[in-house]
Amino acid sequence: MVSVKRAAARLLFGSRYDKVPWGQRVYVRPGERLIREAQWRIRIAGAKTVPLAEYQRKVPLGEIEEFLSCMMCGESHQQPMFEPTGGNGWRYRVVRCPSCGFLYRNPNVRPERLGDLYANSYSSFLTGAYAANRQRRYRLTMDAFSPVFDDGKGRRLLDFGCGAGLFLELAEQRGFDAVGVDLSPDSVEQANARLSHAKAYFGAPEDVPEIAAGGFDVITLWSVLAHLPRPLEDFERFRSLLAPGGVLLILTVNAGSLLLKAYESAWSGFTKNHLMFYSSRTLPTLLRRTGFAGVAYAPHYGDTIEAGTTQLPEAMRARLRRAVESSDGGNMMRALAFADAKAIEKWGGPLEVRGLKE
Ligand SMILES: [Zn+2]
Repeated sequence: MVSVKRAAARLLFGSRYDKVPWGQRVYVRPGERLIREAQWRIRIAGAKTVPLAEYQRKVPLGEIEEFLSCMMCGESHQQPMFEPTGGNGWRYRVVRCPSCGFLYRNPNVRPERLGDLYANSYSSFLTGAYAANRQRRYRLTMDAFSPVFDDGKGRRLLDFGCGAGLFLELAEQRGFDAVGVDLSPDSVEQANARLSHAKAYFGAPEDVPEIAAGGFDVITLWSVLAHLPRPLEDFERFRSLLAPGGVLLILTVNAGSLLLKAYESAWSGFTKNHLMFYSSRTLPTLLRRTGFAGVAYAPHYGDTIEAGTTQLPEAMRARLRRAVESSDGGNMMRALAFADAKAIEKWGGPLEVRGLKE
């Protein structure tokens, strides 16, 4: 099957794109964006919509799992879409909400059993060779929202899900008065060994008096949003922890990605521990319902394009940028949420801010 597809692609596009990295071809080959988007619309139109009760009868439920309705809009009907699988035999089901388009794992993981997903030393893969790439990605994202992260002097920052402190290290270098929380004790220990002024804590924000007091100018969620089983509760808390004029930064996999439309269940965003998948269509619901005033996006073109290390010729780079922008289809979503009108006034200037009032 794969070789048939490859032969078809060769016929359509010639050998010109053979050297283009796999994750970029979809964006670069002429006309492919339109084909993938049409495929996606057909896929959605053809996907069955079933009531939750019927879905529950048909789908097995794991010990640490629970069935959900859509957390964004409350819709209980389900469109079964994908069944990602991976190493060591993990497998789960992803449904689409027929009302608002939200993609989520269903059955999902019960919040009190979330720890089970991270039992096997989750921290180890967050360090080592991985660290330099991660920090580069953080810098590129901060730059994309300049000047919000340019100068942290006199500003308080909370990194939620801080892991081994790779971002906190950059935050303290930029002058932020930074703290982090994480649910992995190993990671918190590694973070505190790495940091000089910033401090990482084990637990939830409300467990740490210094954090529970709130008044943060910036909260960051680096690859955390897709892991939250109760996003509404968490975002209500984030909103209350922000000072007037505060902002919340989100980096997560983009459920509007052209790569998802192309590769479906094999999409790289369906990783073992991801629970919910947001796009610029569905994230505003979460933000609006939890009291945020506005949101701005920075399209994600991929690390090598943004860092200038790509081998792609300029014409292909330009086509990739156009494909990402016109489809809102980069593989990651980068969003900056504004707590209130003051935040929009203070930081929204160079950005295209979309208001969230109903
Ligand atoms: Zn929904």
